[in-house]
Amino acid sequence: LVQALNVHKAFDQLEVLKGISLDVAPGEVVVILGPSGSGKSTFLRCINNLEDIQQGAVLVDGEQMGYRHAGQKLLKLKPDAAARQRRRIGMVFQQFNLYPHMTVLENIIEAPVGIHREPRAAAVAHARELLKRIGLAEKENSYPRQLSGGQQQRVAIARALAIRPKLMLFDEPTSALDPELVGEVLATMRDLATQGLTMIVVTHEIGFAKEAADRVVFMDGGHIIEEGPPGELLVAPKHPRTQAFLARFI
Ligand code: ATP
Ligand code: MG
Repeated sequence: LVQALNVHKAFDQLEVLKGISLDVAPGEVVVILGPSGSGKSTFLRCINNLEDIQQGAVLVDGEQMGYRHAGQKLLKLKPDAAARQRRRIGMVFQQFNLYPHMTVLENIIEAPVGIHREPRAAAVAHARELLKRIGLAEKENSYPRQLSGGQQQRVAIARALAIRPKLMLFDEPTSALDPELVGEVLATMRDLATQGLTMIVVTHEIGFAKEAADRVVFMDGGHIIEEGPPGELLVAPKHPRTQAFLARFI
């Protein structure tokens, strides 16, 4: 579903991604680990075409992000067309970014109604289904400030799911939460993982990686250093840098 081929990304002189290649199959859950500054967030943003890349390509569901084929030629998409490509990709950030002046339900139906032109009644029905799924059915008329951080993040996940994404990207979704609220968000994500959603998750939650990931990727210095099933990479990492990184979690 996702093919990243030799992705290079630089901010001016600073080379952040130095040739990242990663294939993610439909239904696969990939966890990306790595030290701060290794390029994890940048890579997620490149998958979503929120960042331009200097070299390489990212394909999502066979479409090259940011480009279209015109006969033999590959043409760069205009911003609105590029945004359209992004519409089937859900993203959840560290900061929940819910609209503070909208209720939970309004937050969830905003994109389906406003961008995807779904009929309001259908969007509301779907939103209620999603709220039930994340265990917050009774909160549909609450405002974000009336919810705990964990509840807000679960609503942010529901909002991302409301566009019926074929791919979900998570960037440290639990890092901003108080420790006692982390579990409920991870549980929601574990549910999604078992339901066959394709997910790429940047997280430092090794337990989540162990239980929910099909594959773990370790990034450092703009490279993928090592990847493998959690039972191998997390238990018996081969590369010294992976070993050093994981050592701090033991
Ligand atoms: P963390 O674990 O701290 O979130 P990360 O692996 O997600 O780190 P990135 O956020 O991808 O790392 O950043 C990688 C490098 O790119 C860093 O050196 C960062 O300063 C730089 N960087 C990221 N975004 C920009 C930007 N918009 N402009 C300039 N430099 C940037
Ligand atoms: Mg980051």
